[in-house]
Amino acid sequence: MIHLGLLGYPLSHSLSPKLHGAAFAALAIHGEYLLYPVAPGAIGGLAELARHMRDGEIDGLNVTIPHKQAIIPLLDELTPSAKAIGAVNTLYLNNGKLIGHNTDAPGFLADQARFLRNSVIEKKALVLGAGGAARAVVYALLKDGWKVTLAVRRADLNQARALIEAFEPQIGSSSMDLVMMEAGDLERLGSRTQFIVNATPIGMFPETDISPWPNGLPFPKEAAVYDLVYNPRQTRLVEAAQAAGLRATTGLGMLVEQAALSFACWTGRDVPREVLFAVVEA
Ligand code: NAP
Repeated sequence: MIHLGLLGYPLSHSLSPKLHGAAFAALAIHGEYLLYPVAPGAIGGLAELARHMRDGEIDGLNVTIPHKQAIIPLLDELTPSAKAIGAVNTLYLNNGKLIGHNTDAPGFLADQARFLRNSVIEKKALVLGAGGAARAVVYALLKDGWKVTLAVRRADLNQARALIEAFEPQIGSSSMDLVMMEAGDLERLGSRTQFIVNATPIGMFPETDISPWPNGLPFPKEAAVYDLVYNPRQTRLVEAAQAAGLRATTGLGMLVEQAALSFACWTGRDVPREVLFAVVEA
């Protein structure tokens, strides 16, 4: 029996137990995936779970908001991508060492490749937001050879500068830019943006009638739009982009990919993606 679970808070709406339950069933693996809600700041709760992993009582954990960074000091090692991103979403044990990994970045990369299908001529992306998910997205895009402009609100300018400083040594200073998430700045970027990624929670349930893209501002005419938000299934941003004739998708595919990659980390098995898509589409 393999013991897996999810650490975060709150967890009641998580799709992860259903995704991993379907993976167990599809691959005939005897396993369980439990929820471990630990309130923000409850370091004792995090330490206890780390201990259960080292004792072998838990074989693997996903980590979500608000613990993706807070758990890091309790781990023995980070994989190179988790270290660069500065956040983990997957924990596993390797030769007695508790390892932190990040499958959001490769999960995003796999899903954007499926979505864009090599249709992009000039790899110029605009990423909205500078939080944890933005770090994973930016890391993935830079590794894939994109030039990235970050668009942020004034409040997260420092967060955005820290993100750029973290990645600059690896990619050189010419691959990243910073603008404000305001109509004037976004308009000045012109029409060469090929890919817009929303990595803010704007438009997420229950505030489903708002969009991160400024009202009345036309989209760059060649752009494809990827909204990391997947609840609701069709976000305002995706609706508006499609209405303007652009290709657009929510982040359900990234959710599926990151889950499959975590599952592979723990079990060494590859889950057929259609099994997981059937879960999230149900
Ligand atoms: P986070 O760490 O809290 O970061 C959110 C970012 O958005 C911050 O830069 C924040 O700026 C900015 N922001 C928030 N509200 C804003 C507003 N009204 N206007 C402008 N900027 C705003 O959150 P996260 O973990 O990165 O997650 C972001 C979204 O991605 C969530 O909806 C999450 O569900 C989704 N996500 C999806 C997947 C997937 O598999 N599809 C994976 C990971 C995350 P401040 O710092 O100034 O607040």
